[in-house]
Amino acid sequence: MNLTLPIELKAKLDKELGNEVEYLVPLSDLSYWKIGGLAQCVVSPNSLKSLQKALKITSEFSELPRLIIGDCSNLLFDDEGYNGILIKLGNGLNELRFENDEVYCEAGVWVPELAFHCFRRGLAGIEHICGIPGRIGGLVFMNGGSQRRGILENVVSVDVITEKGEMKNIEASNIEHSYRVSPFQGKPLVIAAVRLKLERSTRAIVRKRMHEILASRRKKFPRKLPNCGSVFLSNPKMYDVIGPPGFAIEKVGLKGKRRGNAQISELHANFIVNLGGAKSVDVLYLINLAREEVKKQTGFSMDCEVRYVSPEGQLMQAHEYTQSLFDIA
Ligand SMILES: Cc1cc2nc3c(=O)[nH]c(=O)nc-3n(C[C@H](O)[C@H](O)[C@H](O)COP(=O)(O)OP(=O)(O)OC[C@H]3O[C@@H](n4cnc5c(N)ncnc54)[C@H](O)[C@@H]3O)c2cc1C
Repeated sequence: MNLTLPIELKAKLDKELGNEVEYLVPLSDLSYWKIGGLAQCVVSPNSLKSLQKALKITSEFSELPRLIIGDCSNLLFDDEGYNGILIKLGNGLNELRFENDEVYCEAGVWVPELAFHCFRRGLAGIEHICGIPGRIGGLVFMNGGSQRRGILENVVSVDVITEKGEMKNIEASNIEHSYRVSPFQGKPLVIAAVRLKLERSTRAIVRKRMHEILASRRKKFPRKLPNCGSVFLSNPKMYDVIGPPGFAIEKVGLKGKRRGNAQISELHANFIVNLGGAKSVDVLYLINLAREEVKKQTGFSMDCEVRYVSPEGQLMQAHEYTQSLFDIA
C-alpha cells in the first residue's frame, strides 16, 4: 500500500500534531489478534486538545474514513489494511481522578489500571473489569464487563465530542444500555471521558474478589496465542437451552477447527487464536462456520461481539460481514 492521503491533509497533520502522527502503520502491530495490513494514518493524541485538533483537521476531509480506536482488543482489521485515519486514544489521555466514591477517567485509561487503583482505595463495584484488556473508552463503547455485568451499570456521566467538535456531558439517565450494547454504537461520537460510581469497601474484600476473577480467567481463557477475547455474544435463549457460545461451538464439533493459521481455540471454543500469520479471511471463515453450524444443529443464532473494520472504513459486528463472504455448504 502506498500513502494516498491528500497532500494538504498530511501537511496539516504534520504541522499541527507532529510526532503524534504516523503513516503506513502495520495494523498487525496494533491489534490484539496481530492481524491486518497497513493503515494510511494513525494519530495518537497526547491530550484532549490534540484530540480536538485531530478531529477538526480530519473532519475537513470527510470523504476519508475515520475511526476512533483504543487498544484494538475487540477489532479485526483486514489484510488489505485501512484506507483512512485511525485516532488512537491511549496513554496521552489517561487522567484518572478519584472524588469521594466516584472516579473520573479519560478515555485512554487502561482498564486493568483503573481496577488496580480502585483496589488500592478499597472501592468496590467494578471488580469484574479487572482482567479485561483495552481502554476505558472502548469498554464504555462496548458496555464491556464480565460476570454477566457491563461497565455502564456504574456510569454517572460520559463526556463525548460530537461531530461538530463540541464537548457534551451525557448523564446516566440518558444512557440506555443492555448486555454489550451502549448508545454510542453506530453514532459518530467520541467518548472522551467517563465518570463512574463506586462503593466503599475494603482492600481485602476487593482484592479477594479480583483474585477469584483473575484466577478463573487464567484457567479458562487462552493466554499464549493472540486473540480478541470472546468472539460471540451470549444469546440468552440459547444460554438457557444449550449454554454459552463456547459450549455450543464445542457441541457442534468445531473446537480446535483450523483454517490457515487461525484456529477455534482448543482451550475455549468462543476464542479464535492466531497460530502465527493468520489472515483476516481465515478468522472470518471460522466465524461464519461456527455461526452456521450452531444455527444448523441447534436452531440458535449467535451474533459477534468482535467488530470487523473494512479497508473502506465500515465498522460492523464481524458476522454481518461474513454472511456475504462465504458459502459453507
Ligand atoms: C484476552 C481478551 C479478553 C477479553 N475479555 C473481555 C471480557 O471479559 N469482557 C468484555 O466485555 N470484553 C473483553 N474483551 C474485549 C475487549 O477487551 C473489550 O471490548 C475492550 O473494552 C475494548 O477496548 P479497546 O480499547 O481495546 O477498544 P477497541 O478494540 O480499540 O475498540 C472497540 C470499539 O470501541 C470503539 N471505541 C474505542 N474507543 C472509543 C472512544 N474513545 N470513543 C468512541 N468509540 C470508541 C471502537 O471504534 C470499536 O468499535 C477481551 C479481549 C481480549 C483480547
